[in-house]
Amino acid sequence: MRVLLLKHTEEPEATVAAAARLCYSASDVETLLKKLSKEKIRTLVRDLIKRGHHSAVEHASFTFVVEGISRACTHQLVRHRIASYSQQSQRYVSMESKKQGGQFPYIIPETVKESGLEEWFAEKMRTVQIWYDELCAKLETSLKIKGEDVYQDARYILPNAAATRIMFTMNARELLHFFTLRCCNRAQWEIRKMAIEMLKSVKKIAPSLFEDAGPACLRGHCPEGEFSCGKADEMRMFFKEIEKNLGG
Ligand SMILES: Cc1cc2nc3c(=O)[nH]c(=O)nc-3n(C[C@H](O)[C@H](O)[C@H](O)COP(=O)(O)OP(=O)(O)OC[C@H]3O[C@@H](n4cnc5c(N)ncnc54)[C@H](O)[C@@H]3O)c2cc1C
Repeated sequence: MRVLLLKHTEEPEATVAAAARLCYSASDVETLLKKLSKEKIRTLVRDLIKRGHHSAVEHASFTFVVEGISRACTHQLVRHRIASYSQQSQRYVSMESKKQGGQFPYIIPETVKESGLEEWFAEKMRTVQIWYDELCAKLETSLKIKGEDVYQDARYILPNAAATRIMFTMNARELLHFFTLRCCNRAQWEIRKMAIEMLKSVKKIAPSLFEDAGPACLRGHCPEGEFSCGKADEMRMFFKEIEKNLGG
């Protein structure tokens, strides 16, 4: 998995602070920004988030590219509606062995590896590759179609394990919500791993915006009730360690 923070709003914390100050000031935005020291900006942002005044936080956006994740993972990701997505197409990009250097890329879950089933899993993927190639060839010859007309239906035989790449943009408000749900121990391992990598990268850029970001248990008690992992203390330690390693 490769998680890349490709672009973000220039000076995201200052942008959010300016939005917040503008609401209550007679000054123009340039004057407001001149008056705001780095320390003042961070205090203002922390205060906004603490008080739940999250609309100003929407002015800061972050664009990620994630590669080497499964379709199972991106299916969960795109359920988050307050975001923009562009994903590699299985309609236009052929997964044929001749185009993919032998085998379409796929993700093997850790449990499969830990169970010693890695080779068994790889063999199944090789079989799916054969089926996909066969289906492409049969559709081409029997219907005299090619390109996306073939791939758009041949993909029906591909598994959730098939690897993909996706670019997406979320504003900081949606990111805070996303981190609450997806950094939680209850989230599925792959999207959780991705969310934690995303969290690390935005914390470096905008520490005050994402200071308390992460699962709900970092900020109070776990809302999961009977489904709680029961490891709130462990989680707090885990995210504190991340903060420490980032120099926070
Ligand atoms: C542990 C876990 C297990 C899950 N299991 C399942 C499952 O079994 N089946 C399943 O289908 N999904 C499942 N999901 C997905 C989940 O139901 C949500 O679709 C997903 O987490 C997106 O979150 P969201 O809807 O809060 O937020 P987003 O889409 O990210 O939106 C952010 C917020 O905007 C507001 N909002 C967005 N759209 C609307 C709207 N149309 N109307 C009103 N308010 C809106 C809401 O306040 C929402 O919380 C699971 C998620 C998690 C974290």
